Amino acid sequence: MRATDISDQITTILVTEEQIQEKLREIAAQVASDYEGKDLLLVGVLKGAVMVMADFARALPYNVPMDWMAVSSYGSGTKSSGVVQIRKDLDTDIHDRHVLIVEDIIDSGLTLSWLLENFASRGAASVEVFALLRKPDAAKVQVDSKYIGFDIPNEFVIGYGLDYDERYRNVRDVAVLAPHVYS
Ligand code: 5GP
Ligand code: MG
Ligand code: MG
Repeated sequence: MRATDISDQITTILVTEEQIQEKLREIAAQVASDYEGKDLLLVGVLKGAVMVMADFARALPYNVPMDWMAVSSYGSGTKSSGVVQIRKDLDTDIHDRHVLIVEDIIDSGLTLSWLLENFASRGAASVEVFALLRKPDAAKVQVDSKYIGFDIPNEFVIGYGLDYDERYRNVRDVAVLAPHVYS
C-alpha cells in the first residue's frame, strides 16, 4: 500500500520510502564502524519501531541480536501522556551489554528519557539511541540521541510503523495525518 492510496486521509508526505532506505544505509554504515569489535544489542520499541528495526537490522553488514520492549505512553490518542508503563519487558539481561535503542520517533522525548534511565539502572555498558524521526519543536525533555534519521515538523504523522489507532503502520512513506481523521 502506498501512502498515495490514502491521499484523502493525509495532508503531506514528509519522508518517502526511498529517502528512508537511503538514510538507513547511511546510519547502518556509521553504526557498523562505531561498534566495530563490540558486542551490539539492538532493542526495538514496539510497535512503532517494527519497520525501522526490520530494515535497519538488515542494512547492517553483520548478524546482530535483537530484543524488544513494549511501553505505552500514548494510548490511542495523538498526545503523549508522559506516563510510561512497561507492557513487555526485555528477554535479555543487558548488564555489561552495548545497547542501541531503535525508535520510530522522538516527540516529547519522555518515553526515551525514561528508557535511557531504566536501561542505565540495569547496568548496560552503554546505551545509545537511533530514532528514525524527531520533532524538535515538541521536545519536553532533551534526549541525547546519537543517530537521527530526519527532523520533522510538530505534526501527528503516520506510516512506516507509526499508527493512528493501530492503522496506517503498513503505509510505506511517512505522512501527516489529515485532522479530519481524528477530530
Ligand atoms: P514521546 O512523546 O514519548 O517522545 O513519544 C512516544 C511515542 O509516541 C513514540 O515512540 C511513538 O511511538 C509515538 N508518537 C509520537 N509522535 C507520534 C506521531 O506523530 N505519530 C504517531 N503515530 N506516533 C507518535
Ligand atoms: Mg515508539
Ligand atoms: Mg501509537
